Amino acid sequence: MSAAEPRIAILGMHQETNRFVKITGEADFRAACYFEGEAILAEARRPAPAMPAEIPAFLEAMDRTGPWQPVPILLTSTEPGGPVEQGFFDACIGKMQASLKAAGPLDGVYISNHGAMATTGSHDPDGDIYAMTRALVGSGIPIVATLDLHANISQRMVASVDAIIAYRTNPHIDQRERAVEAAALLRRLMAGERLAKAFIRLPIIPPPLKLVTASGLYGELIAEGERAIGPDIALVSVVGGFFRGDLPKAGLAIIAYGRGRHPDELAQRLAARAWAERERFAQSLTPLDTAIAMAVANGESATGPTILLADVADNPGSGGPGNTTDILEGLIRAKAERVLMGNFVDAAVAAQCHKRGVGARFDAAFNTANADRFARHLKLRLEVLALSEGPVIGRRGIAEGRTVNLGPSAAILGGGLTMVVVSRRIQCADPIYFETFGLKIAEFRTLVVKSLAHFRAGFDEFVTPENIHEVDAGGMTTPVQSRYKYKYLPRPIYPLDLDMVWTPPTI
Ligand SMILES: [Zn+2]
Repeated sequence: MSAAEPRIAILGMHQETNRFVKITGEADFRAACYFEGEAILAEARRPAPAMPAEIPAFLEAMDRTGPWQPVPILLTSTEPGGPVEQGFFDACIGKMQASLKAAGPLDGVYISNHGAMATTGSHDPDGDIYAMTRALVGSGIPIVATLDLHANISQRMVASVDAIIAYRTNPHIDQRERAVEAAALLRRLMAGERLAKAFIRLPIIPPPLKLVTASGLYGELIAEGERAIGPDIALVSVVGGFFRGDLPKAGLAIIAYGRGRHPDELAQRLAARAWAERERFAQSLTPLDTAIAMAVANGESATGPTILLADVADNPGSGGPGNTTDILEGLIRAKAERVLMGNFVDAAVAAQCHKRGVGARFDAAFNTANADRFARHLKLRLEVLALSEGPVIGRRGIAEGRTVNLGPSAAILGGGLTMVVVSRRIQCADPIYFETFGLKIAEFRTLVVKSLAHFRAGFDEFVTPENIHEVDAGGMTTPVQSRYKYKYLPRPIYPLDLDMVWTPPTI
């Protein structure tokens, strides 16, 4: 039985881990989103909160659907990056545990995580948070969790909470809808309803480009699951996963909830289809030289559509440093014209631009602090076009309506290109990152974005899908799975082991 004014704890820790890039620490979380207790509610009620979109949407949905009392615990989030430093994770889960204990009797819990986190000491920190919460509140209190569809799902995660709800869109535009769904489900569970669950993880790591949901097998699996929702199926998530975490729990996962054996039957049906049609996950990228030639040709022609080159191998949204130079060097060498590029991460160059001011011309050295084989030193004579301190409100796509901080940043002209240089690793998924400098995107013939898929929901005003080219450049987020050296990924797995045999489970 639920209380007249049910008390619902709210907590979350969002991070997506790329095992192959440098460790993520406390400062990374604090610079992006870190709130404890009542501060969560205060930030969520601001016009453009600097936090995952689920939280404000969940609060509003609970407000709309009846009396309740929020019990805010801890919420933190940061950009994708390397494994989270264990000490900071321990501090967070320790504070969550202490606050949940101190909160007294609860009627429900909402956990908003990303779901693809790894720490330097745990392969399943999302499961650690779920299991800690369950152990504390006991078996009778409903716990509902939302996740990104790039989550890696463990059996322990599924076992520890009453329901997991994953995003259904990529680019992600349904975070609010999923949070509203979580609120509604929590109300049903608090009223006494219980759901049977089914969980199947397949030995498939789909290429990230094939997890875009507008077309292709992945979107069809999600749609097939959605069509099954009704009296027998309450909820189904098809979770694509994030293979760069190099985790034992990697793999496309299906989680279904409902009555009796229906969730099992649905999960098995979707798993069998995904396995049978797995070759549809094959990806193809545009070779670097081809992409550069396209940009040159487009710059020389006054007519025809704008093209977009996606630097998918250096996507800060997958943990990339945002400073690789394959495409940049190629465009400069080939003297490509009317090219707009962002967001290039180089805090030292951004700081120099701020020091010298708008209109200044000077010789800048890129990647002085952190050059590597993908991000080479580069000297460039540049002109400072415009400056920003960094905070912007997302206009379109994944960051819409939220405050994002680029850090001190500048628009520059150099090597014949117009480029945005930023201090913080933010993937270029929203036109606002150019517009905030007064740049007119429509005046350029070629756009280059360091982003993998989310730019599609931001730049659809300027470029059509057939004019988007995912470039096969070098970088720590390349979608080509065979280029990584894995330690923990379960083998055999598709598509690394093409001759493997697997049989979907049956009742
Ligand atoms: Zn995602």
